[in-house]
Amino acid sequence: MSALTPEVRAYRGRLAPSPSGLLHLGHARTFWSAAERAQARNGKLILRIEDLDAARSRAEFLRATFEDLRWLGITWEEGPDCGGPYAPYSQSQRRARYLAAWRTLHERRLIYPCNCSRREVALAASAPNDLEDEPVYPGTCRSVSAEGTSAAPDAAPAGANWRFRVAEGEEICFTDLHLGPQSFIAGQDFGDFLVWRRDDVPAYQLAVVVDDAEMEITEVVRGADLLKSTARQILLFRALGLRTPQYYHCDLVRDKKGVRLAKRHAALSIRNLRERGWTPAQAREGVVPADI
Ligand code: GLU
Repeated sequence: MSALTPEVRAYRGRLAPSPSGLLHLGHARTFWSAAERAQARNGKLILRIEDLDAARSRAEFLRATFEDLRWLGITWEEGPDCGGPYAPYSQSQRRARYLAAWRTLHERRLIYPCNCSRREVALAASAPNDLEDEPVYPGTCRSVSAEGTSAAPDAAPAGANWRFRVAEGEEICFTDLHLGPQSFIAGQDFGDFLVWRRDDVPAYQLAVVVDDAEMEITEVVRGADLLKSTARQILLFRALGLRTPQYYHCDLVRDKKGVRLAKRHAALSIRNLRERGWTPAQAREGVVPADI
């Protein structure tokens, strides 16, 4: 291939469920979109289990996830059940990779330890925040600890929250393949965000970036509730010198009151709908029924 020809990468998409609850109608729609897009592009679909949060992940939800995905008619080429070149496919078994990324960020002085409690951060947040999203961090520990922390090769993150320092006012733009041009301002739409948690668990943003890069994911299909997380993740891809995938954010499925579906909407879980006689095709459409 000549240096001038842009490299076309074979399509690799992923399904990234967290086994902390039952899949619902919103997941059915998003995962089905991911499956359809991979198929239409002759691509591969990878199943990655996002089970870093040991306190919330449960074996019974993991079993239910596999069963529900299969019932929906979704198939994948790589995953914890069938293996593949980027195994392991469960985040709980990939810690060494996240730690290596933490070290790189630490050496580059792009992250800092933070000892603020959750409550302090929530109270100091100036703007009303999306309740489901990480509050905008007021920067309390930013300057105190920016210098002076050891960047030794054996440095370890345990014992503090570690935050990625964003450049205040920086605009992060990307073109979503479904929703079009997107723009977020660092310091306003989101603040210095967590990459490692005080309880020594890698944070979602870091783990996802490390895995999407290593698994050579070319397109991320996920719900529109994660748009701001995508902006954060783009910063991490850049900071780690990794290639950013393309993004396709699906419309959210909402209940009759307009609330985004969450684990608490048990009645709209795929299992429940299946028990009520729904077909996989109905569930894949992700339309909330009038009688629930
Ligand atoms: N595991 C995340 C969830 O279940 C999805 C993450 C992602 O698509 O990046 O909400």
